[in-house]
Amino acid sequence: MIRVGFGFDVHRLVPGRDLWLGGVLIPHTVGALGHSDADVLLHALCDALLGAAALGDIGQHFPDTDAKWKGADSKRLLEAVVGMVTEKGWSVGNVDLTLILERPKIMPYVPAMRAAIAPLLRVGEDAVSIKATTNEKMGFVGREEGVSAHAVALLQKA
Ligand code: MG
Repeated sequence: MIRVGFGFDVHRLVPGRDLWLGGVLIPHTVGALGHSDADVLLHALCDALLGAAALGDIGQHFPDTDAKWKGADSKRLLEAVVGMVTEKGWSVGNVDLTLILERPKIMPYVPAMRAAIAPLLRVGEDAVSIKATTNEKMGFVGREEGVSAHAVALLQKA
């Protein structure tokens, strides 16, 4: 049995915050605003996994009103989500993630992101695809006011 899930997330970019993307700290002049570490790529991935298992969404499981998740490392959120889908008998097949932001160039950080994400999903790095594109200077991403991410995840069960 296989199930597919989709996730989307967006965060504002502001001065004075760290920029965590795909579990990796990226040196930049602005960072993502949010209750947790605001890792937009891991949040989209969490929602894709939850979506595939029809287990709701990240906002339900980790509400931004809960002090427990303030400043949280999103890798811990992803770990918890993988625990939830595993509990239901699912294992991860593969994931395909797309980041959308103008700057900085993401490709140099992709190997570190895949290395960070694969063990959390209990898959090989060849099952973790990460792509990046700009928004061609259009809209809020184009004006560098924010960053967004899309994710697709496949779950399998014997
Ligand atoms: Mg988010």
